Amino acid sequence: MILDHYKNPLNKKLSSTFDAQVHHINPSCGDEITLNLSTVEGVITSITWDGQGCSISQASVSMLSDLVTDKTLEQADAIVKSFSELMASKGTAAGDPEVLEDAVVFAGVSKFPGRVKCALLGWMAFKDAAIQ
Ligand code: ZN
Repeated sequence: MILDHYKNPLNKKLSSTFDAQVHHINPSCGDEITLNLSTVEGVITSITWDGQGCSISQASVSMLSDLVTDKTLEQADAIVKSFSELMASKGTAAGDPEVLEDAVVFAGVSKFPGRVKCALLGWMAFKDAAIQ
């Protein structure tokens, strides 16, 4: 599933218009993500991104972009919170598929502290864009 998103990423084409744009890097791995966010009356209408780096970072932002589009900022915030908790679980949590859908595949990554930052990069970029 992770490799599938890495090879066929969703929403990987920066839109020309956006309400917020952020650029986040993960120096420990060399991952980079630029993310554009558009909202209309508190609903996320578009998330587009571009980036490079390891398969975990790129697949994770691909899943995030698909998961939170058409959600309210409030719903998206709860999803990001749930994913952050999963990533902090050190392998002890499985993730809630009702909230995280396909992103529960990253549960195993939480066992590897060096990779957690890779998985969280896109989610933190989104969080940053959402408060702008
Ligand atoms: Zn990485």
